[in-house]
Amino acid sequence: MSRIVIAGGGAAGFFAAITCAEAAPDAEVTILEKSAQFLSKVKISGGGRCNVTHACFDARELTVRYPRGERALLSPFKRFQASDTVAWFESRGVKLKTEGDGRMFPISDASQTIIDCLLRAARAAKVKMRLNCGVERIAKRASGGFELALSDGEKVFYDCLLLATGGCRAAAAGQLAGSLGHKLEPPVPSLFTFHIATPWLRGLAGVSIESAEVSVPGAKLRERGALLATHWGLSGPVILRLSAWGARELHGLDYKFPLHINWLPQLDAEKIAAEFQSRRDSQPAKLIVNTPLAPLPSRLWEQLVLAAGISRDTRWAALSRAAQHQLVQQLIRTEFQVTGKSLNKDEFVTCGGVRLGEVDFKTMESRICPGLYFAGELLDIDGITGGFNFQAAWTTGWIAGRAMAGA
Ligand SMILES: Cc1cc2nc3c(=O)[nH]c(=O)nc-3n(C[C@H](O)[C@H](O)[C@H](O)COP(=O)(O)OP(=O)(O)OC[C@H]3O[C@@H](n4cnc5c(N)ncnc54)[C@H](O)[C@@H]3O)c2cc1C
Repeated sequence: MSRIVIAGGGAAGFFAAITCAEAAPDAEVTILEKSAQFLSKVKISGGGRCNVTHACFDARELTVRYPRGERALLSPFKRFQASDTVAWFESRGVKLKTEGDGRMFPISDASQTIIDCLLRAARAAKVKMRLNCGVERIAKRASGGFELALSDGEKVFYDCLLLATGGCRAAAAGQLAGSLGHKLEPPVPSLFTFHIATPWLRGLAGVSIESAEVSVPGAKLRERGALLATHWGLSGPVILRLSAWGARELHGLDYKFPLHINWLPQLDAEKIAAEFQSRRDSQPAKLIVNTPLAPLPSRLWEQLVLAAGISRDTRWAALSRAAQHQLVQQLIRTEFQVTGKSLNKDEFVTCGGVRLGEVDFKTMESRICPGLYFAGELLDIDGITGGFNFQAAWTTGWIAGRAMAGA
């Protein structure tokens, strides 16, 4: 009987354990979790609702949501992608629903539903589960298999080992993989929001716009989508996406860089100027601050007008060419200075981890140390926000589980 151990009782570890135990009922499959709780990130994920996956059911299209891991994930997604996740949970009694932006959640809107499902499936497949049981050291045995030193002083032996210990932001987290000969891409945060001290922007906290284009001049970073003004700067899906694609570059800039915002990406400068002309003609006596250009919220418009140096009492008829130019520039390219970052409380991940070239993505087995497997965020894979990070954990866990079962 083969003995399989999984270090880490998170999303990837559970998915691998269940898949393995279901495919090889004779194998002994054990999850070792160092903390006092299994699946603690699932619990807090998606604001407590768990954004399980994304309604993107094409393997290739799914891959482009991963700033790190795009190429490596193509063949795994051809075997287990978002539609398989939906079917997996549904076949175990958990229905998922899709929100307008494609994110998928359990219909209960409670992450506990996902936790209960995974625990139930693990028990049914006779997976052994141990809490407060951290793996501290691993030695590869000459005769095959691994010897693990656990946090309670115990030593245990297994034939096959899966590391699913999660993002390796803390240096210790990557140390197990390192001790077995693997190299790690240095960890840096991904999915964060931007600090901007500009007073008029902070005054707009709570204002959101559906579609803005944000870019970092000098870096090839440009994203379009919903933007949210906060008490400390800017957030929203478009900022999180930019932070993911720029995770390494922005870390290199110590999170201090200029940011350009085009508040009206659907219009170009000429169309905006034409709109201004039509206002001059049709409503010359109206105050500019009071007559926003759709779809900009009136509070934002007011601040952009003032930031362009146009006084509150200026009417459309009195808008000079120079002032018009300033306003168009504000609308299509407001420049802010980003001075730092905050973690996004709903979802954050680590960019960096075990180098992908050192792992065989047909099995998730190490190319360096036979019998060693990897799954989840410990790998140098991370996605943009929207359920893609869990999808990578489910997919890599499933593939590792099948391979360890010999299926
Ligand atoms: C606040 C927050 C919200 C999120 N929301 C979403 C979301 O809605 N949708 C989404 O797709 N992604 C979300 N994510 C990202 C997602 O949670 C992770 O990508 C995912 O949990 C990774 O799964 P994993 O199993 O690789 O790692 P983890 O879930 O981090 O699990 C790793 C486990 O290993 C254990 N461990 C570590 N070292 C050892 C050791 N030496 N021995 C034994 N055990 C060990 C840890 O205690 C942990 O339980 C969110 C992240 C955060 C922080």
